[in-house]
Amino acid sequence: MLNSLRRIVQEVNTARDLNKVLGIIVARVKQAMQTQVCSVYLRDHVGDYVLMATEGLQAEAVGQVRLARGEGLVGRVVVREEPVNLEDAESHPSYQYFPETGEERYSSFLGVPIVHHRQVLGVLVVQQSERRRFDEGDEAFLVTMSAQLAGVIAHAEATGTMLSVGQAPAQAKFAGVSGAPGIAIGQGVVIAPLADLKSVPFQTCQDISAEIDFFQQCLMAVREDIKGLGQQLEERLNREERALFDAYLAMLDDASLGGEVIAKIKEGTCAPYAWSEVILEHENTFASMSDDYLRERATDVRDLGRRVLAYLQESNQHCKIYPDKTILIGDDLTASMLGEVPADKLVGLVSVQGSSNSHVAILARAMGIPTIMGAQDLPYTRMDGRPLIVDGYKGAVYSDPGAQLLKHYEAIALEEHELVKGLEALSDLPCETLDKHRLPLWVNTGLMTDVLRSLERGAEGVGLYRTEVPFLLRDRFPSEEEQRIIYREQLEAFAPHTVTVRTLDIGGDKALPYFPISEDNPFLGWRGIRVTLDHPEIFLAQIRAMLKASVGLDNLRILLPMISGITELEQAKTLIYRAYHELLEEGFEVNLPPIGVMIEVPAAVYQARELAERVDFLSVGSNDLTQYLLAVDRNNARVADLYQAFHPAVLRALEQVVQAGHSQGVSVGICGELAGDPGAAIILMAMGYDVLSMNASNLPKVKSVIRSINMDQAEALYSDVMQLIDAEQIRARIAQTLREAGVSRVVRPLEEDETRQLN
Ligand code: PEP
Ligand code: MG
Repeated sequence: MLNSLRRIVQEVNTARDLNKVLGIIVARVKQAMQTQVCSVYLRDHVGDYVLMATEGLQAEAVGQVRLARGEGLVGRVVVREEPVNLEDAESHPSYQYFPETGEERYSSFLGVPIVHHRQVLGVLVVQQSERRRFDEGDEAFLVTMSAQLAGVIAHAEATGTMLSVGQAPAQAKFAGVSGAPGIAIGQGVVIAPLADLKSVPFQTCQDISAEIDFFQQCLMAVREDIKGLGQQLEERLNREERALFDAYLAMLDDASLGGEVIAKIKEGTCAPYAWSEVILEHENTFASMSDDYLRERATDVRDLGRRVLAYLQESNQHCKIYPDKTILIGDDLTASMLGEVPADKLVGLVSVQGSSNSHVAILARAMGIPTIMGAQDLPYTRMDGRPLIVDGYKGAVYSDPGAQLLKHYEAIALEEHELVKGLEALSDLPCETLDKHRLPLWVNTGLMTDVLRSLERGAEGVGLYRTEVPFLLRDRFPSEEEQRIIYREQLEAFAPHTVTVRTLDIGGDKALPYFPISEDNPFLGWRGIRVTLDHPEIFLAQIRAMLKASVGLDNLRILLPMISGITELEQAKTLIYRAYHELLEEGFEVNLPPIGVMIEVPAAVYQARELAERVDFLSVGSNDLTQYLLAVDRNNARVADLYQAFHPAVLRALEQVVQAGHSQGVSVGICGELAGDPGAAIILMAMGYDVLSMNASNLPKVKSVIRSINMDQAEALYSDVMQLIDAEQIRARIAQTLREAGVSRVVRPLEEDETRQLN
């Protein structure tokens, strides 16, 4: 059973459209369970469950038989959200007969729900003519099957809304989570790892004969490579083994794979996509064979597939032309991919994986690029060249938007533009409440572009300079002198304001390409200070560079990430003192800067007082603190709903930290993304935080909101939210304060009900 299960899932995973997915499921499940019927019903847009595929019932019934929720046995499975297993289906009160199916012959019925994201997407049914109850093993198999297939079906369904060559495009909406706020209207550009058969972007081709020529040239190149490989290995392989190379060569012939691909190109599909589609189909066929030898051939097909694809993609690589309003889309966008698109052309980002606290989203917020993360059902390979709208407030992507939707979003983009212009006027005004309570707003930086935007927006200091960003953009560790120059630039740009430079925080989801760390559980592994304490040569060079960069400016503060205990802090301080004394001995006129720790691990919350006794300042990293307190991976789209920055436990931890810090007379700031949320900023101010550090994009919004309220309102909000028991209630209470202060639209120009009817 386990083997059949694996094989079915593998086969389904490589199919690209819904009909194929469903066809495979019904055929293979029927075979594996040795039943007479297997069918799939799926929910349609009005909420009815429609027979979409069957093996065993009359084919004409497909698309015709439909049941409402609760109607018939299928509807009963939907309502119960659990299997219905009947020996004599006809005698059940819910039984409903559909003559077009010919199902009167089948007595036993086993239906299990197909559940995706808590929604019953459909029902998977097997039937048998003789009266028997499907046994426990059958039921368990079907439940396992259905649970594994739910995501694939949901994805294929979404893909089904995309169209193939020649059909008129239709507007479609895909949900994700907001990575960076704002509206982007532009054209999709898919960025895919090279030679990955499953992520080839779908593109059409204009000049069919040129495309066929190009394809044949690539085949020729691969033929030569394979011949060469065969010759190289001639002496080490026997005749039978060498035959594999001939088999490879034969597969490339026009009568074989080559011919199938050319047929697809003639329909207008670009060569890389056509090739990947043919290869995936063949790989599938081999993978589902029962003979072990033939099944192994799937690997050969895949290998050949990748070789040809590499040639097909390589020639497009260098001359990539980005449209003026590029919306970059990828399965798993990374910070370094952003650099591939010229800055003046990049208007939006969409990543299938990841969530709002992934580092790419943090960078996008700093750069002010509307971003959607975790758009898991987005058939991203189909988005290349398509007109798109990114709604970074709601976390939604629209493909091929209709005229009405486009007009609506153009109006919002315009309003947003006006709003930003209005907020820019605040840059020279202090951040203070109506009753003159001052709250310094600082920025988080990483790139040089952040510096310019931050200064324009009136930042009063840097609360977090993420030094890993310049490290990420290189192909080796920067030298001490290179680092000194980079840090000096930051310190000079903001002088005399404070710049808080954080020591290297790699690990987790921030892997340096030249220093890979491979772990099962990277967020709980070798991260931040743990790496640099194990590599004093890296840490010392960085501290020396920081101290030298600050000579004559003296606006540096050093911040230590991921501290989880006093020993780590003491060890890090010892190294800092060592670097300082070394430099003094070498004749540099350096001063010892204030040293602080990030409070981002729950252990540090409970030891905040002891840590505060030993440092000059505390800075809360609410991104990681939320992840570790709630045990929710900040990058995992599947649990993004549970990543609740306003969870009461998070608020209590924040309160405890500020009180602990102040009890020791040290300044307490916050530099996680929460500080840039205008509603949260009001609460943090009332809690007593001395400084909020945020991305430059959010700074004007936070300032505008703080300038619109008075301290009594902030304190009332703070005291109310600390009584509430869940994040939803807390958000509602914050929204009320923002409404009363008349600043809701600053936070989000787009109102929910305005767009609802357009979706
Ligand atoms: C944090 O964890 O809140 C933080 C500011 O650090 P980073 O997002 O870089 O992990
Ligand atoms: Mg962190």
